[in-house]
Amino acid sequence: MTQRILEPGEIQGGAVADAPSIRLPELNSLFSDRAARLRQIAPGHALADYLLFVAAIGDAQQSALNNMQTIPLPVPMMLEQSRAHGMPPLNAIDHARDPAWRTVLRTLLGDLEKKIEGIARDHVRRLAGEPDALYEAQADRVLSAVTAGLDFGYAPLVAAGLQVYWVHQVAALGLPALIPLDVPTVCPACGTRPVASVARSGGAAGGHRYLHCALCATEWNMVRIKCSDCESTTGIHYFGIDGGANAVKAETCDACSGYLKIFYMEKDAQVEPTADDLASTALDLLMADAGKMRSGPNLMLFAADGE
Ligand SMILES: [Zn+2]
Ligand SMILES: [Zn+2]
Repeated sequence: MTQRILEPGEIQGGAVADAPSIRLPELNSLFSDRAARLRQIAPGHALADYLLFVAAIGDAQQSALNNMQTIPLPVPMMLEQSRAHGMPPLNAIDHARDPAWRTVLRTLLGDLEKKIEGIARDHVRRLAGEPDALYEAQADRVLSAVTAGLDFGYAPLVAAGLQVYWVHQVAALGLPALIPLDVPTVCPACGTRPVASVARSGGAAGGHRYLHCALCATEWNMVRIKCSDCESTTGIHYFGIDGGANAVKAETCDACSGYLKIFYMEKDAQVEPTADDLASTALDLLMADAGKMRSGPNLMLFAADGE
């Protein structure tokens, strides 16, 4: 099948004729696919232990997601207000989280504890014994990317619970509730920045670039060769690592000195943004050396000197 790359300016408003402008996460396999991808990459990888830890988190997340009960969604009036103001309906920063997310996290921790060992298990056990107030305080920091006061041992675990909650809620809300935002650089469902871009292959989305939400895994279309942070369409460059995977490049922008990775499914159909991003931290180091700032988070990896 011939796939055509759309140029900036060829489409308007992010809506492409045949490709969906927004794609919801795959509820039945999102986290298990991530776990499988991490296990595929881990053997011989310098970060193998961490990749396998996140794979175990992924399994626990999928199990928690599969067993989630219905949680109330924002009332229609709230949804209408979000729509009228071009705001994401489940905005990570100010959405009133249902306490059910903490039950999800506690279930997830109980499951995970049986499957891991070492220092990671110590973090899991310690977090399992913490009060609800700490969960909420850490969640606020994770969601607003505040590293001051964030416990770096807890952060990926708290994020794991939040991801399950948000994926569940976004899927329950459904595609009709979502519209492309005026600000096309954040998730139309939850307002979080993307972990990476994916150039998809096959199906209606084939040949199109999607930004992949770091929190709820919703994807939204953005034309290629455009900065996913400042929207500049000039001064965009692509960097890979010599001898590294062909399917990953860093898309850099001269205008804002930012970058985000892009994964090419036509080169590797198995790519999973969160997993492949973790597996390509060597490219992040290269970009840091070049003075480029990463524009979106990976909620499975927190750095003390982050933004
Ligand atoms: Zn999102
Ligand atoms: Zn830029």
